[in-house]
Amino acid sequence: MARCPLALALVALASCETPSYTAIPDVVTCRAMTPLVPVGASVFGDDGRAGPFALPAGAHLLAVTLSDPSRCVQVDALTLDDGTALVTPGDFGPTCVRCFQRVSVMQGAGWFAIPSDASRLGPSRVTLALRDCATGASLRPLPSGVRATVARVALDDATPGATGALDLAVIATPSSWLARADDASLRRFERDVSAELADAALRVRVVARCVLPPSVADEVTVQAGEGATLADLTARAASACRGFEASAPRITVWGVRCLTVRNATLGETTSPEGFTTHVPGGGATSSVADGVVLSDGCFAIPPGTEAPPHAVRVMAHELGHYLGLYHSVEADGRADVLDDTDASNLMNARPTEAMARGLSRQQATIVRRHPAVRWSAVDGGVCEGR
Ligand SMILES: [Zn+2]
Repeated sequence: MARCPLALALVALASCETPSYTAIPDVVTCRAMTPLVPVGASVFGDDGRAGPFALPAGAHLLAVTLSDPSRCVQVDALTLDDGTALVTPGDFGPTCVRCFQRVSVMQGAGWFAIPSDASRLGPSRVTLALRDCATGASLRPLPSGVRATVARVALDDATPGATGALDLAVIATPSSWLARADDASLRRFERDVSAELADAALRVRVVARCVLPPSVADEVTVQAGEGATLADLTARAASACRGFEASAPRITVWGVRCLTVRNATLGETTSPEGFTTHVPGGGATSSVADGVVLSDGCFAIPPGTEAPPHAVRVMAHELGHYLGLYHSVEADGRADVLDDTDASNLMNARPTEAMARGLSRQQATIVRRHPAVRWSAVDGGVCEGR
């Protein structure tokens, strides 16, 4: 802690803190991510579409990179070689709740899970389409010359029975709970979030924490469909906390006191307790936010205290999104594509309700496939060293 006047010290501890970096020793070794396999590249045509890209049988993360990182893209069609259509072309909003497979709009670069359920597909073809970042609708007018480069990562089912680790790199605004939590509170938070994810045998670890300097605002406003504000916090962390490392496979968690999400197109402003930049997370370039936000709900949190009541469940729920899960039941009552989920599930659209507990077998399979999950070398994985 930096020096501060004694009279102020008792009432303004946070404002006297210097940016902090806490490295927590790893207790589990890692497994190297399956390498990216190039699939192809294509310029979006006059109809706003690129592809089709051919995929072999299996389950894949489709890693898409746009030549213009400000543009947004979505899977527009997914068709098996036997003719079965899993996503049909259309103008279907940010996550396509009416598609047989869910597909999220993403900005610049990132991953699509093919399929978004726990199955494996036969050989298939994927077409991409440019979207309006704010609404997920078809982009008009169309820019010319935007190119999509596509690669894939095989999604491997995890070793049954093995416990996986999720490594979180926390970037906390100065007065947020994640900035003010002492080490004992953080350890209890890890334990409690891990308990919410017990059906998938995943253990959460905060492996790095950067508390941003007092000049950084605790109230963060995100425009729907673009993550520039969050990406800016990540850039500030890189300069404020020497040695802080948030890149994949670590999952970036932004802790903020107050989060506002504005959707200019819908004229809607909300203050969610949690937020995930894309389903699934991972694979973004550094100029685009990629991770999950935990908000204190705009309450003032005293230093060193326990997590706000919503924090554990919301954190587990947002990690579920990051790892590839959609809502088991949407706020409007619409169900997901998994046949073993219902409203009594962690991925209920209202995760703080008492019944919103646990994950189904299919959900556990999906989250355990994600490359952000680290596995112990003793489970047969290969450690790339860290
Ligand atoms: Zn959610």
